[in-house]
Amino acid sequence: MAALEFTRRYAMAHRLLATQSPKCAIPHGHNEFVTVRLDPITTFKFTDTNSAAPFELAKKRWHQWIDDHVDHALHLGESDPLIGYFRENEPALLKQIMTFQGDPTTEALAACFFLKLSAFIADDKLPFTVREVRIEETPTNTVIITRETFDPATNGLRPSAWPHRADMSINDF
Ligand SMILES: [Zn+2]
Repeated sequence: MAALEFTRRYAMAHRLLATQSPKCAIPHGHNEFVTVRLDPITTFKFTDTNSAAPFELAKKRWHQWIDDHVDHALHLGESDPLIGYFRENEPALLKQIMTFQGDPTTEALAACFFLKLSAFIADDKLPFTVREVRIEETPTNTVIITRETFDPATNGLRPSAWPHRADMSINDF
């Protein structure tokens, strides 16, 4: 089978408190594109269909999660006091808050995407592995996480965190 790549767009907002960048401490937003690359676990062979049928399956679940849960989410570190504000005043909006262990940087988001897509693929028993996640944060700034630069097994994220779960979650509330 051949490698596959697909791209989706979403809007998001975040703020960075631990990062030494005063400009990023105020909530602000980006329109981002995420491109994922999947590698097949078997080599391409000529068959009747000559296509990787599970491709549509992998794409469908991923894009459903991006469209229904990631799009228009507010990304916050787990210790951000804004979470307390929403809990007390607007609990109905908690489902639109994506939480991060540490600052919600684009690097952390790419790592979370890598884990979530890997969880979906494992859950559907699809014959692919995630090779690369690329987030275009702005037209001039792209963050790339690859299997060479990221080890899904030893990444420092606690095992119970939402990126490891093959469900539609974006937080652990
Ligand atoms: Zn930003």
